Amino acid sequence: MSEKTPGFDTLQIHAGARPDPATGARQVPIYQSTAFVFRDADHAAALFNLQELGYIYSRLTNPTVAALQERMATLEGGAGAVCCASGHAAQIMALYPLMGPGLNVVASNRLYGGTVTQFSHTIRRFGWSAKFVDFDDLAAVEAAIDENTRAVFCESIANPGGYITDLDAIAAISDRAGVPLIVDNTTATPYLCRPIEHGATLVVHSMTKYLTGNGTVTGGCLIDSGKFDWSNGKFPALSEPEPAYHGLKFHETFGPLAFTFNAIAIGLRDLGMTLNPQAAHYTLMGIETLSLRMDRHCANAVKVAEWLEQDDRVARVTYAGLPSSPYHDRMARICPKGASSLFTFALKDGYEACVKLIGALNLLSHVANLGDTRSLIIHSASTTHRQLTEAQQIAAGAAPDVVRLSIGLEDADDIIADLSQALDKACA
Ligand SMILES: *Cc1c(COP(=O)(O)O)cnc(C)c1O
Repeated sequence: MSEKTPGFDTLQIHAGARPDPATGARQVPIYQSTAFVFRDADHAAALFNLQELGYIYSRLTNPTVAALQERMATLEGGAGAVCCASGHAAQIMALYPLMGPGLNVVASNRLYGGTVTQFSHTIRRFGWSAKFVDFDDLAAVEAAIDENTRAVFCESIANPGGYITDLDAIAAISDRAGVPLIVDNTTATPYLCRPIEHGATLVVHSMTKYLTGNGTVTGGCLIDSGKFDWSNGKFPALSEPEPAYHGLKFHETFGPLAFTFNAIAIGLRDLGMTLNPQAAHYTLMGIETLSLRMDRHCANAVKVAEWLEQDDRVARVTYAGLPSSPYHDRMARICPKGASSLFTFALKDGYEACVKLIGALNLLSHVANLGDTRSLIIHSASTTHRQLTEAQQIAAGAAPDVVRLSIGLEDADDIIADLSQALDKACA
């Protein structure tokens, strides 16, 4: 092998995977085993003390899942990664070591609808809270951070409003405040955007979407940059003796891998939101073709968005991949290879026309998912963003007259033809 660092296309296939030492199997085997045999009592003790790496029990670690973790850490440029059962589980795993009763996260008001609900209501039961702010208003972000803030949270490309976050500017604010920036990179994937290069501390993913890429799996991942100083006094779960792990100090013991080890030894062990090895296998298969798929997703999305933009019945298209988007310049800096394939458009005829349009489509499926090989459509206001107030819906880019598209890998002409015939029926 040459000294050159392998490129993304190579790493998406090879990172984390090596021929199986027992059988020579070239593809990563699905290690469908709950437990792993200890060599002897000393080996077992070393594993439980985290003095030696190995496999104990699949709630904590599993070889198939470990291959996926190594691949995700490599693709995102992180020190370590931990997979879990869903994107929402990854968000809880990211916040869990940082937060406590009375503490808060400062979050963008442009987030996936499920995340708005999780942050507005569910985390309150843990005594945590979220403050939602417009992340284009940097002064407001800075002002929202107080002495009880323990994290700043945003999406790189926000679902679903065609919005791109100025990650470098937000990271600078988080740094000054001594709190980590957590970036949900689901819509971009590490092929289009690598948040750690823009200053993110932690990256979270719903692997359910583009990473697996074909609508088969629910999974999540948390990647740690390994760059944050957890000993700044705000994060005792990472810097002080951990009573639930015989007094271990994660930061002192594991340095750049402190968060990763904490997420496995405490998060997965006690919260139990484990990814199963079968799901990890599907996701590994998906990631092998990530760059090829994302290039096509982006190219198709540009064609469909351009076609919609010139149609008289369409009020507006919000897609950062269009030169008309206010976020097009930011795209060149944050995700230069493309703005992913998720965007919204609004119909002049409003809510009723949106409902008719969705009913008239044949090729596009009406589902609450995104990042599939198939083109998908949803009327967010009546589905994924239904639990939100109208003001929250508008802030999230999911107003009542707006539909969201996730453009798939079909022939762009066929996607356009289906939208064209449905628009004829919806806007008579
Ligand atoms: C889908 C999604 C989530 C939640 O992921 P699940 O795997 O469904 O739990 C979080 N963030 C974004 C941006 C998403 O698209």
